Amino acid sequence: MTLTLTFWGTRGSIPSPGAQTAQYGGNTPCVELRSATGALLILDAGTGIRHLGRSLLERANGKPIAADILLSHAHWDHIQGLPFFAPLYEGGHEFTIRCAPGALGGVESALKSQMSRTVFPVTFDAFRSQVRFRALNEIERGDGYALRTVPLRHPGGATGYRVTDGNSGAPALVYISDNELGEHAGYDSPADWRDSLVSFARGASLLVHDAMYTADEYERHRGWGHSRYEDVVDLALDADVQRLVLFHHHPERTDAAVSEQVAVCQKRVRERGARLEVLAAEEGTTLTV
Ligand SMILES: [Zn+2]
Ligand SMILES: [Zn+2]
Repeated sequence: MTLTLTFWGTRGSIPSPGAQTAQYGGNTPCVELRSATGALLILDAGTGIRHLGRSLLERANGKPIAADILLSHAHWDHIQGLPFFAPLYEGGHEFTIRCAPGALGGVESALKSQMSRTVFPVTFDAFRSQVRFRALNEIERGDGYALRTVPLRHPGGATGYRVTDGNSGAPALVYISDNELGEHAGYDSPADWRDSLVSFARGASLLVHDAMYTADEYERHRGWGHSRYEDVVDLALDADVQRLVLFHHHPERTDAAVSEQVAVCQKRVRERGARLEVLAAEEGTTLTV
């Protein structure tokens, strides 16, 4: 075991609480990732980060918290929890908000705009803990982990990550939220984008990927920046990953419907004569890599 991840938010686009979504969760994307040495990475700052903040404060028990907050992009569902992340207001903690170099200016301005007085009562200056902004290099080395980035196919751009223990390069977690695997010309991705993505995910122990649409839904939302289940399974199979975690669930998808889609994906794996474990990201659950 080298990496531990906990899902605090699994839902795409808009929070969708209620009895029908209680199992897989209604909070928007936020994943806590720990290296074996205890370094903390927070992947996305959707509404799930509110619960994470409370949990971190409890676990820290008065000690300072330090973390990098990696934003895949600044779409609302990935940043809207930040103003409710309690450790920011407490003082004494240190957070570095990180994203792709080209996105840094836009991310900073989006985070500050969502806390402008017109739309929120408290401004970014209310944070008493230290908050820095720093671009991610294509390859990063931290305490007990190494991280690589990949550009994704999403309106406005987004970034995916491959995280390993920093020494062996394996096992690896690949986190790809908000990515369109279907054909659509609206991206400036190179012609070999899919081959590059397959190599990026190659042999991962765990692939967490946007799985928003059924095939029917996708036809009505081509170009919206998300993937259908079939394409996600095919990517995982082509890249020989061990476990696929369906993520960024559609806000209208009930728990029963998510489970049904897991079964559809498992059937596709069997039809291809392959061995791939498929599960759906479930809020509050922890997986080890
Ligand atoms: Zn999203
Ligand atoms: Zn998005």
